[in-house]
Parts: sequence; C-alpha cells; structure tokens
Amino acid sequence: MKNITVIGVGYVGLVTAACFSDLGNNVTALDINEERIKNLKDGIMPIYERGLQELVTRNAAAGRLHFTTVYADALKDAEFVFIAVGTPSGVDGEADLKYVQSAAETIAKSMSSPVIVINKSTVPVGTGDWVADIIRRNQPSPIPFSVVSCPEFLREGSAIADFMNPARTVLGSLDEDAAEKVAQLHLPLRAPIVITDLRTAEMIKYASNAFLATKISFINEIANICEALGADVKEVASGMGYDPRIGNRFLDAGLGYGGSCFPKDVKALTYMATVQGRHPQLLHAVMEINADRRSLLVEKAREVLGELEGKKIGILGLTFKPDTDDLREAPALDVARKLLAEGAHVRAYDPVGMPGAKELIPDVEMAENSYDLAQDSHALLICTEWNEFKHLNMNRIHDVMETPIIVDGRNIYEPDMMGRMGFSYRGVGRGYGPNGEPVKD
Ligand code: NAD
Repeated sequence: MKNITVIGVGYVGLVTAACFSDLGNNVTALDINEERIKNLKDGIMPIYERGLQELVTRNAAAGRLHFTTVYADALKDAEFVFIAVGTPSGVDGEADLKYVQSAAETIAKSMSSPVIVINKSTVPVGTGDWVADIIRRNQPSPIPFSVVSCPEFLREGSAIADFMNPARTVLGSLDEDAAEKVAQLHLPLRAPIVITDLRTAEMIKYASNAFLATKISFINEIANICEALGADVKEVASGMGYDPRIGNRFLDAGLGYGGSCFPKDVKALTYMATVQGRHPQLLHAVMEINADRRSLLVEKAREVLGELEGKKIGILGLTFKPDTDDLREAPALDVARKLLAEGAHVRAYDPVGMPGAKELIPDVEMAENSYDLAQDSHALLICTEWNEFKHLNMNRIHDVMETPIIVDGRNIYEPDMMGRMGFSYRGVGRGYGPNGEPVKD
C-alpha cells in the first residue's frame, strides 16, 4: 500500500484516484472545485463514466479513497503526487499551462516530506523540467522531490477498463530511482512499461494522439473520395482493417474527431513544431480535413431538404462520443449552431449529454427521447453513435416524421435497409450519389 495524492478530479484524475485505491493504495484526491469535492464526499460523481460511481463508493467506504480541497492535507505523508489538471488550448493553439503551474506552485508550498511528482496531464515537451523548476523556486525550504512524466492514454467511455488494462505505461524521468518507484506502482496493471527521459515521454503522448487523429482524418478523406466514386467506405475500412499493419480501430468515417484531447493535442503539437521553425504539413492537413467534417451533415441535409430555414431538424446524439457526458469539441454542437444560423428549428436528444448541452446551445430544444425527437421532424441527423440509437423502432420513427429523411453522420444504419423502409437516407462515404441513388449499382 502506497500513499498517493491525485491533484484534479476530472475525467483522468478521478479515474486514476479510484483505480489506484481499488488496487489497495491509500489515495487522497484533491480539487480546487469545492462543489466537486463536496459532491464526491456525498457520493455524487462530477462526470458520467460507466462503473465509476460503484468504484468510488466502494473504495471510499473501505477508507482507501479520500477527498479534499486542502493541499497540505492531501500532501501529508504522500509519496506519489499525480498532477491531472486540465491543459486546454490557448489562443494560438498552444497548451495553456495555468492549471499545471498553479498546481506545481501549491505542491511546492504545501509539501512537508519528499515526494515524486508525476505528471499525468498532457503537457508540451519540456513541461516536466519547467514543473521541477517551479517547485524548486516555490519551496519555502528545500525538500527533495523528483518529477516523472506518466502520460495517460485512457478513453472516456471505457476509462476504468483502459486504466486497469493499459496497452503500455510510459514513464519519463532522468531520476532512475524515481522512475523505478513509479514503475513498481504500475506493476499490478501488468502492462509493458516504457521508461525513457521526460521529454520523450511527453512527446509519446502527443505523437500517439496525433497519429490516431491522422487515422481518422485519413479515413474521412477516403470517405469523400468513396462518395465521389461510388465505393462504400465502411467496407473499404473493414477490408483495410484486417491488415495487421493497419488495424481496424479509428477507421470509422464520420464527423471527425472531437472531445477534449485530439483537437487540442494536434493543435498543441503543431504549435510546438511551428515555434521551433518546423512546418508540420501533415498535422495541418489533419486539422483542415477535420474542420471540414463539421459542415458535412448540414450540407447533406441541405442537399435533401433544400432551404433549411423553418425546417424542423432533430439531432440524435450530442456528446463527442458515446458513453460519456463530455461535450468538449463535440461535432454535434457545431452542427446545431450551423443549423440555427440557417434558420432551422433545431431539437436534440442525447442519453446523458442534455443537461450540459442546454447551457452550450440554449436555442436548441431538448426532446424526451428519440421518438419524441422524430415527431414532426423534417430530418434526423445522427451525430453520436450511442448504442440505443442502433436498434430504434425505425417504422415508428418513419411514421411520426414529417418527411422521413435521415442523415447519418456515424454510419450506424445500412443504406439499403433504410431505403427499403422508405427513408431518404444519407450516410458518410457510402457510395450514394447526390440524389441518394446507389452509385455502386
Ligand atoms: P478535466 O477538466 O475533466 O479535470 C480537470 C480538473 O482539475 C478539474 O476538476 C479542475 O477543477 C481541476 N483543477 C484545475 N486546476 C487545479 C489546481 N490548481 N489544483 C487542483 N485541481 C485543479 O480534465 P481531464 O479531461 O481529466 O484532463 C486532464 C488532463 O489529462 C489533460 O491534460 C488532458 O489532456 C489529459 N488527458 C485527458 C483524457 C480524457 O479522456 N479526458 C485522456 C488522457 C489524457
């Protein structure tokens, strides 16, 4: 059992704290957001993540997981201090490090014994050295510490399983002893451990996310070409994906990548390269392709419906991906705003994203469920591939719509089947021509 402190109880920090406590450690999770901590003490989760409530409740009840807003309490007896605060995009695409800076300063002022500070936040290359410098400068009197980079690779929606079964653990440090101690902490996860220097570890995270974003933009580019030539991108991706050199993951054509990581991390890597006088052409293309995806559904809706002004359009799915409540950089929000700008009457339904979305797109009316959303709609636009949308009673949907038009931004339905049911259907890259005719026939 180790004493661990986690700074920041968001998507990464709370999962990290809950999982390390579940592995038998004594974990204190700290956040500056008092409401979050109060709620967590009352068993109320600040985020939606499957299995998290149960994990937190069980480990808090066992006395292994504690919550606080007081740094000195959190750091007392801590051997490992994880920083898991946000690193959002700054105005020029750079990672804004104000939360990391503030956490590092407060750690320095509050620590009372030697600690290993482990950076889990996604931070620009060189941040580990910068954090060490901040801690050194802000300590009232010198206490030994080390900084280790340990980037996180979990995905929202499967965060606990990802944390507990990582493909690899990456550790970066110049302090071999500290890296070894952090490696020991991760041994129960039974994943390969890559130990390298701080800067390389930080870069592994950006390079990994940029690669996955590239894969998504690549298949979206192929989808555009498929559409023009009458091929079906879903089958193309499937045929490609069997090749182990390619793999079938992150090959779903659609609305492009969103969320709190890929957009900001590709931007931040581009910024880092540019500042160093490099011209990251591929990353620029990845972002450009992704930005274009945001207009795609609106263009497709316009193709079928003509003028959108006054049309009743329903958006199915608001979160950036299924199984999370995270709306950061969610394509659906842009789709909604573009439709509103064209004068459409926009309604939406999402299993968990609606409370947050109400604040971000206040002019969009929220529906009770998918069928309520379909009622009298001129078109339904699918923006998030929640499982519950995959087996809707499509006959019922068809019957209640004003005009049975579906624009499927996630390719969850089969064009032929939709056609047979009487829908005018548009998928993404499915080999259908501009008037919905199956080009490949
Ligand atoms: P988040 O916004 O969900 O949570 C951040 C938390 O940090 C908030 O609760 C905030 O109140 C708290 N915080 C801010 N400043 C603080 C301070 N000085 N002291 C204590 N708490 C403070 O962020 P997130 O999505 O968990 O992301 C955290 C980091 O992990 C980011 O760098 C992100 O890029 C990276 N990451 C995120 C994911 C993901 O799926 N969300 C995956 C891998 C890596």
